[in-house]
Amino acid sequence: MAYKFIDNYRERGARKKLVEHLKGRGIEDQKVLEAIAKVPRHFFFDETFWNQAYRDIAFPIGDGQTISQPYTVAYQSELLHVKRGDKVLEIGTGSGYQTCILLELGAEVYTIERQENLYQRTTQVLPYMGYKANFFLGDGSKGIAEHAPYDKIIVTAGAPFVPEIMLKQLKVGGIFVIPVGDEKSQKMVTIIRVGENDFDRIELDTFRFVPLVGDQAW
Ligand code: SAM
Repeated sequence: MAYKFIDNYRERGARKKLVEHLKGRGIEDQKVLEAIAKVPRHFFFDETFWNQAYRDIAFPIGDGQTISQPYTVAYQSELLHVKRGDKVLEIGTGSGYQTCILLELGAEVYTIERQENLYQRTTQVLPYMGYKANFFLGDGSKGIAEHAPYDKIIVTAGAPFVPEIMLKQLKVGGIFVIPVGDEKSQKMVTIIRVGENDFDRIELDTFRFVPLVGDQAW
């Protein structure tokens, strides 16, 4: 497959403006902002829509799915407090944009997508861009037990509840970020595993994600 990957001053300039916009919306983590400034988001768009790539909006990527809004990606990434070498599980690879941000933050990423077309595309596009992740195809609502435990878990689709099975895959001291609610809106939930059977839960702002579909989901 041929991809057109050109990153020139126009796109780099648009990314700088996006970073300023995200700072204005309250994103403070310098490493997250640097990652946003680095990852060429337009590579995840058809060339016809490159002029949309650095607007702070979600955008269709086919198969009824979306590339998340940059603010949402920055918001979730900030909550994860990724440290270099962290083992991070991402549920909902989608376009792979969030995966690249996690890789730029120094994470070792395990990412799972249930839609085969999207999985096929990211397994080709990300390595082509120079990003190495561990890709899986399947129902991520159960996590990926074979590779657990994880330092961090991020879910990028809206869940009806927190899947218990995923909590067990988190290291003690680990952070889990998941949007939870109904089909129309979800609260961003952060859970910290403070002990073997002890979890701290914080509910934050409201978002609207595509649904998490699966055994432990919708
Ligand atoms: N992080 C993505 C990005 O940066 O483009 C955005 C992902 S999109 C908002 C949510 C993704 O979750 C969709 O691609 C959808 O197919 C996927 N998804 C939904 N339920 C899933 C499940 N049970 N397991 C894995 N992926 C799932």
